[in-house]
Amino acid sequence: MNTSANIYNLPKVRGVYKFAEPLKNYTWLNVGGPAEVMYFPEDEEDLRSFLRQKSEDLPVFIIGGGSNLLVRDGGISGVVIKLGNKNFARQRIENNTLYCGAGSVNFILKKMIEKNGLGGLEFLCSIPGTIGGAVRGNAGCFGSDMATVLTAVRVMLPSGEVRNLNNEECGFSYRHSDIPADWIILEVGLKFAYERSEEVAAKIAQNAEYRRTHQPQGIRTAGSTFKNPEGYAAWKLIKQCGGDKMVYGGARMSEQHCNFLHNDGTATAADIEKLCHAIEQEAAAKCEVPLELEIKIVGQE
Ligand SMILES: Cc1cc2nc3c(=O)[nH]c(=O)nc-3n(C[C@H](O)[C@H](O)[C@H](O)COP(=O)(O)OP(=O)(O)OC[C@H]3O[C@@H](n4cnc5c(N)ncnc54)[C@H](O)[C@@H]3O)c2cc1C
Repeated sequence: MNTSANIYNLPKVRGVYKFAEPLKNYTWLNVGGPAEVMYFPEDEEDLRSFLRQKSEDLPVFIIGGGSNLLVRDGGISGVVIKLGNKNFARQRIENNTLYCGAGSVNFILKKMIEKNGLGGLEFLCSIPGTIGGAVRGNAGCFGSDMATVLTAVRVMLPSGEVRNLNNEECGFSYRHSDIPADWIILEVGLKFAYERSEEVAAKIAQNAEYRRTHQPQGIRTAGSTFKNPEGYAAWKLIKQCGGDKMVYGGARMSEQHCNFLHNDGTATAADIEKLCHAIEQEAAAKCEVPLELEIKIVGQE
């Protein structure tokens, strides 16, 4: 990969460009090659100016907290945009709605949700990643998901145009939204009902305790690897087809919860992808329903 800014004729920005930036440092699975260019916009205006001036054939990918991504070993060509600046992580409360910049980290929102007693948003506090990534994939747990709480989302189109979408226009379904891959989520509005902050804190603690006792902690993973097919639990199908015993290099499924990938620190992205595909194939051959990946595989081999 070429690391010279001139080659890409990159627009002048107020934000930061990094070249050949290792994406393993930005993903929970801790694997993957570099971003050819990584761009951290300063603010929305900077982002808009970049999109309007960049050459049309320069591909762009947006990364959030990297908690649902498997980046291949060849990395990602073109520009990977990360809304890491604090200007994309502001929050305000208005009319029983929490508005958060798309770069807000869910774990950090926890403090605000607890302190202000924002009932109905407790589930979000235990999902790794950013609010932008959560909307894109309709993240959810403990009986709620983004579709349950989202009232509005502001997005930037590849042309730089900013548009407001309501809940229906997001086209949410199980771990999916219809928001096009090249639209950048900027800000999200989430409805809540005021409750005593002690009650909200207790629910958050209860959810955290459930995770501690039922899911692996502190490992390199991307959470649920496969979606639960309707009426089935993915982990049971993985067990049924023997996927829980498969090993590819440093990649296997967690002993504690076999729908969680586990990179022991030596896995390559190729090991992980092989494991995923081997499980898919075995499930197709041996189980009543096929498995579909929940994690997103991106980049070049
Ligand atoms: C330990 C663990 C537990 C997990 N538990 C859950 C769970 O209970 N429920 C659940 O649903 N998920 C869970 N996940 C998966 C993951 O945390 C969620 O999918 C999360 O919402 C992804 O957010 P992210 O910011 O990390 O997105 P990324 O992984 O960075 O990206 C995911 C997708 O979102 C897109 N994206 C990111 N930001 C933006 C933006 N601003 N605009 C447009 N597109 C964007 C990316 O292009 C990509 O397609 C878990 C993961 C881990 C590691």
